[in-house]
Amino acid sequence: DALSQLSSLSSDQLQALASALTTEYQAHKDKGLKLDLTRGKPSSEQLDLSDALDGILNGDYTTANGTDARNYGGIDGISELKALGAEILDVKPEQILVGGNASLALMFQAVMQAHVFGFNGPESAWNKETTVKFLCPVPGYDRHFSICETFGIEMVTVPMTATGPDMDQVEAMIKADSQIKGIWCVPKYSNPTGVVYSDDTVKRIAELAKIAGPNFKVFWDNAYIVHDLTDTPKTLANIMSLAEAAGTEDSILQFCSTSKISHAGAGVAFLNASTANLATFKKLLGIGTIGPDKVNQLRHAKLFPTVDALKAHMKKHAEILQPRFECVLKHLNEAFGDNTLGAWESVEGGYFISFDTQPGLASKVVTLAAEAGVKLTPAGATFPYGKDPEDKNIRIAPSVPTMDEVDAAMAIFVTCVQLATVEQQLG
Ligand code: PMP
Repeated sequence: DALSQLSSLSSDQLQALASALTTEYQAHKDKGLKLDLTRGKPSSEQLDLSDALDGILNGDYTTANGTDARNYGGIDGISELKALGAEILDVKPEQILVGGNASLALMFQAVMQAHVFGFNGPESAWNKETTVKFLCPVPGYDRHFSICETFGIEMVTVPMTATGPDMDQVEAMIKADSQIKGIWCVPKYSNPTGVVYSDDTVKRIAELAKIAGPNFKVFWDNAYIVHDLTDTPKTLANIMSLAEAAGTEDSILQFCSTSKISHAGAGVAFLNASTANLATFKKLLGIGTIGPDKVNQLRHAKLFPTVDALKAHMKKHAEILQPRFECVLKHLNEAFGDNTLGAWESVEGGYFISFDTQPGLASKVVTLAAEAGVKLTPAGATFPYGKDPEDKNIRIAPSVPTMDEVDAAMAIFVTCVQLATVEQQLG
């Protein structure tokens, strides 16, 4: 059809197409809908799945090793949850610290440790250097970028591919520049592209410390490790065991949390690190708190007595989420499957679908959609400093709206992309 051969259309044909799309767009607008595809958080239906947390202890606050969870102490968390975190990440329980409700807080603290205090004594602190840089695979997660910005860490982008960050570029950049001290990675169902890093990519990242300057750290944010939408999920290689085999385990800091498993604002976060790094991390953490919320940790241990119980729970999330993702993909396939107006990865887990318009159109599409009642994440949000150099990436988050709302919002979205593209073609 016309959209698959835009460049060969006459200006009259383009004009006719633009006016048809404008009519369609106006019809959407006239419905006066108020829809929102911005929020990467669980719906209340998903949160309901974990409401048994409330009251689950039934007055019994004693942990497996006999401590009273209500009292102070236990900086690295209760043993039941170290075991659970270790099973989720397939690492040793003694290499797990169980924190509060936010893995983001653990990441922030880890960057602070490395930047201000050093993981290897004060001389190893990044702030001893004139310039500190991080590699940021893009599109990526804006809150990672905000942490870098807060510490004045310069962000250098590297493109995401279907197998993870472009590793030839990553290695070349790290070899050429010892000021690069870290890299952000969301290795499974990456935010926002949904990509799972290939085994080869994981191995190469595990070994980056061998070619990097001193004190290099990989921030391995495994936020979506158990967030599969299919029964046959892709597997992710184990970065910590690969790093141990290569002798680079001190360069790996791995994170995850139950934020999108139980209650997003009242869950439990995990840090996995080498014995040496954990000891250093605990020391600083212990300055700021006497211990984490062990009562909540114990509640989670009761709700998820085994990793299998947790995985069964995740299937219930998938039943709610999967149709929403399918609906988004159906709209994208129907509208852009046979033309070059948009590009996206098929998504088998996580919370997002990442859509690329043709260059220069993302902000236009976001504005058009907003005017027709569909709120989208601001264009640029998936890039450091909020600047997408090609202005083409849009993050779609379908978890919160109802199925009907996702359907209606996506119908509007595709019209906006088509209209913006045809108008650009018209010049
Ligand atoms: N990492 C990624 C990649 C995320 O998408 C999110 C949530 N949007 C987080 C971390 C935040 O996790 P937490 O709630 O554990 O801080």
